Amino acid sequence: MHLKGALHVHTTCSDGTLSIKEAVAAHEALGFDFMALTDHDFLMRKGCYDVVSRLRTDMIIFLGVEIMFHEKGYIHINRVEGDREVLHVFNHPSELGLTVPATIERIGAVSQKLRLDAVEITTRGFYLAEFDVPEIRLPKIATDDSHERHMIGRAWVEMDAPRDKDAILKAIKAGEFWNCFAGSRHT
Ligand SMILES: [Zn+2]
Repeated sequence: MHLKGALHVHTTCSDGTLSIKEAVAAHEALGFDFMALTDHDFLMRKGCYDVVSRLRTDMIIFLGVEIMFHEKGYIHINRVEGDREVLHVFNHPSELGLTVPATIERIGAVSQKLRLDAVEITTRGFYLAEFDVPEIRLPKIATDDSHERHMIGRAWVEMDAPRDKDAILKAIKAGEFWNCFAGSRHT
């Protein structure tokens, strides 16, 4: 199946402005097939994701978290949970002020402790070509890191995969997906 997905979404469970229900509806309206809730660990409201099991939606909703990870300074790692598979993403290196060589070094250091599966090449939904280079040897994903409604649908991934959580995460890990963007950057 052709699937469209958002792998980095914030809600009122941390610092987003939309509730889970609103974020799901907003993605559904844009034709998304799956989305991952990745609220910040240090702001996470306890039990906030419980509502997911009661949601009426055809979308696949991944539970996840954006982790503050300390490795030569703080970095952000998204953890997205499938049924058996788990995806770890090195988030938005540019927002941490990292150059490409520094990003490669930091990925190497983090990989001693955690298996990294992908790296973001976007900041808040905008493409950063400088990080889309072969020297960074991880699948590169586009996300919009949405915190508000207007940020949803700037950048996403698409793939041909079975409609199944683990199949989706495996496709990301294998680099079998496309990055998609709503339009060019307006500055
Ligand atoms: Zn985020």
